[in-house]
Amino acid sequence: MTKVMLITGAGRGIGAATAKHAAQAGYAVAINYRSDKASAEGVVSDIEASGGRAIAIQADVADEADIVAMFETVDREFGRLDVLVNNAGIVDQISRVDEMSFERVDRMMRINVTGPFICAREAIKRMSTRHGGQGGAIVNVGSAASHLGGASEYVDYAASKGAIDTMTEGLAKEVAGEGIRVNGVRPGVIRTTIHASGGNPDKPDVAGSVIPMGRIGEPEEIANGVLWLAEAGFTTGALIDIDGGV
Ligand code: NAP
Repeated sequence: MTKVMLITGAGRGIGAATAKHAAQAGYAVAINYRSDKASAEGVVSDIEASGGRAIAIQADVADEADIVAMFETVDREFGRLDVLVNNAGIVDQISRVDEMSFERVDRMMRINVTGPFICAREAIKRMSTRHGGQGGAIVNVGSAASHLGGASEYVDYAASKGAIDTMTEGLAKEVAGEGIRVNGVRPGVIRTTIHASGGNPDKPDVAGSVIPMGRIGEPEEIANGVLWLAEAGFTTGALIDIDGGV
């Protein structure tokens, strides 16, 4: 039976690299995106060209109805779910906390925290032996920012990723006896489009000099960690730092 992995925010960046890696490892992949349909369909085409199976699903992880419909699409198209990767996430413009609007912080938390919680809820309903499922794994994509704090850049983002660390540890214990493992990766600076969307397009070019290994990371290096955790049968509640030594 082909295993199924749902990856949120998989049209670009770390999610797209994880989707391609998962397909190479034999997973059928559900590729969620919010608005960039062309990129998501490009990932599907790449996977299909290599002989894999993938579908693209539009859903905003800040919207409960979208999340529920996304999981129902996975049910319909694949008939099972083995791994959820909570990857979709945003940063915002560089800002001090005393300059942040309510709307900004609320949006950050809805996408980076509430969305992963509700996705986890839907995954557990399908995977937990308590609900008649076969077990499975959840991999959360956090950030090194959760322990660095994001001062004068984006403390709201860093705090949202702190919540993801805590969710990983608590949920891992909650469902460990139900066949579900919950783990997380904490990337450092990775070469993706997220920096430009936060008004900091030069970050990948300048960050390397302050990283102990002297360079930023590539999306495939995070994908390797996610895939390892998806398969790591005796590992749960773990947070793997993939950040060049930060
Ligand atoms: P990215 O290149 O900006 O790609 C983000 C992906 O998430 C896109 O596919 C985007 O969809 C999707 N997305 C954004 N908001 C969404 C929403 N509300 N609902 C559904 N999908 C949504 O980002 P990335 O750098 O690969 O980041 C992926 C994850 O890694 C994030 O959680 C991020 O916080 C974390 N991370 C990244 C870095 C880094 O340096 N890149 C470091 C630490 C942690 P559309 O294409 O449709 O907009």
